[in-house]
Amino acid sequence: MLPMAQFTCTGCGDCCRGFAREAPEWEPETGPVLRLSSEPGLPLLSWEWQRLRRLAQQRGIAPDVQAFDGVLDEPARRIVVLSYRLAALECPFLEAKPDLEPGPRSTQWGFARGGVCGIYEHRPLACRAYPLVPLRNGIALSLHCPELLDADDARPAELDRVYGDSAASAQAFRAAPNIAVRMLHALEARGAVRIAREAGPLRDAARAWPRVDLCDLSAEHGMETWEELELRARRA
Ligand code: SF4
Ligand code: SF4
Repeated sequence: MLPMAQFTCTGCGDCCRGFAREAPEWEPETGPVLRLSSEPGLPLLSWEWQRLRRLAQQRGIAPDVQAFDGVLDEPARRIVVLSYRLAALECPFLEAKPDLEPGPRSTQWGFARGGVCGIYEHRPLACRAYPLVPLRNGIALSLHCPELLDADDARPAELDRVYGDSAASAQAFRAAPNIAVRMLHALEARGAVRIAREAGPLRDAARAWPRVDLCDLSAEHGMETWEELELRARRA
């Protein structure tokens, strides 16, 4: 048994190959939120997708990213997309690192290949939080991180002390829906959108409506840029 005085990531890369197994939950409370995709995968908040899209273009890769949820802007008959899912079991930003030895326990999930994040400084909050998994009602521990499997006190009372930046990122992820909601309210105050409070019969028809990204809408109306929103979300 390992004492869990402080969690240490070995960089085995298992989490980058299996996010679909335990996706964090995010739930903005604003009118009815329409689920647009049932694909599991790495969650990307609107401003995170803006950054990753640019990084992917620079690297010449085309990640399979799908709109995950959105709200209905009824008068304009469009959907304001709030978040996305990177729908790939293995993250396309994970770079092979043949000289990196995988952790001794990483073989049990069949991913003993090591790897390193190619966009480490820009990785999304869900990645920063791992092996903590932010949920609607709290923060869970990963069931798959090999470094937690043998820990005798994997769920210590003091998450901050043991998981450091991961705990702060998990809290920031949980606070992110509030940022999106405030953004929507500010857009409403400017008359840029009117979010349906009742989806009701619109729910099915609306799936075919055109989609606009929350950050694109914000920029269009001279409000916070996606970079500012991203910074705010990380500091939340
Ligand atoms: S699975 Fe755990 S030990 Fe491996 S890279 Fe992810 S957080 Fe680190
Ligand atoms: S963005 Fe980086 S840390 Fe996140 S899943 Fe991809 S490779 Fe891993």
